[in-house]
Amino acid sequence: MQKETVVVLGSGPAGWTAALYAGRAGLRPLVVSGSQPGGQISLTTEVENYPGFPQGTTGPELAELIQKQAERFGARVVMDEVTQVDLAHGQPFHLKAHREEYEARAVVVATGASPKRLGVSGEEELIGRGVSYCATCDGFFFRGKDVVVVGGGDSALQEGLFLTRFANQVRVIHRRNELRAGEALKQQARANAKMSFVWDMVVEQILGQGKVEGVRLRNVKTGDTSDLTADGVFIYIGHFPNSDLFKGQLEMDERGYLIVDKSMMTSVPGVFAAGEVQDPVYRQVATSVGQGAAAGIMVERWLASRG
Ligand code: NAP
Repeated sequence: MQKETVVVLGSGPAGWTAALYAGRAGLRPLVVSGSQPGGQISLTTEVENYPGFPQGTTGPELAELIQKQAERFGARVVMDEVTQVDLAHGQPFHLKAHREEYEARAVVVATGASPKRLGVSGEEELIGRGVSYCATCDGFFFRGKDVVVVGGGDSALQEGLFLTRFANQVRVIHRRNELRAGEALKQQARANAKMSFVWDMVVEQILGQGKVEGVRLRNVKTGDTSDLTADGVFIYIGHFPNSDLFKGQLEMDERGYLIVDKSMMTSVPGVFAAGEVQDPVYRQVATSVGQGAAAGIMVERWLASRG
């Protein structure tokens, strides 16, 4: 059993920023990376709205910089995933990871969110065979190919634009005839000759034997179905919080987002949360970093108040 003062669960911007603040407070926090080191940002492409980078930056670069900064102040990282927690019995909190068990005086939950699945036939079977949730990871394999992107939000357009670097054409399939994405991305998408839009359609099935060959679409207005040929399907229809681990122990809303108070404290004193696991609203790197900073400050104050 490894004894720690503060354990941060998750290594995205929220987790590393909480660790940066806890580190500067002399608490030598331990960051348990989780299954996606660097968090979702390490899978994104351009980040153009994070302050301090007038020319923009990339997700992996920003993730690395935040980590380095936290490590400079004594934060440590272990590449492991916590699979079981006992938070309900109070301090010390017990955390079981694949390779080690931990006892912690305080915990910051920054486990983030994961991409939602469409839940249609063909999706599960063809993951890695043309179905993807990560353009940065898989875009390269679609050089000269035709791909579809599902969704109408910022992620769909941003990742779709990234895919135009490789693909021959990128068709965005959206269930309405109006995009949810912000104006800047909408303009870039409309101006890109490789991008086009398929409106009022939902994907009913992903087609292909052993690899993606197309999608079956249903028009939500007429009910008509039609098939579209494609080599790849990139799905960006939103996220769900990674909070399963805390069910029955920490209060959450009906969608699974952890509930925190103004000091980022969950329903269990000494357990704080930051980033997308508790934020269904903003979901930006800048806001996750702010929430991580608040959690890092409050964890120090809470520990100090208890001597
Ligand atoms: P999102 O904003 O929730 O958009 C999800 C999109 O998927 C919506 O267009 C939605 O359609 C569609 N959708 C949801 N369920 C669907 C289903 N079952 N079948 C078909 N379509 C479905 O998610 P996101 O794009 O991942 O963005 C999440 C957050 O991150 C947002 O706050 C966004 O601003 C932020 N973000 C920002 C940037 C940036 O600023 N550069 C980049 C990426 C993400 P409806 O529109 O009809 O609901």
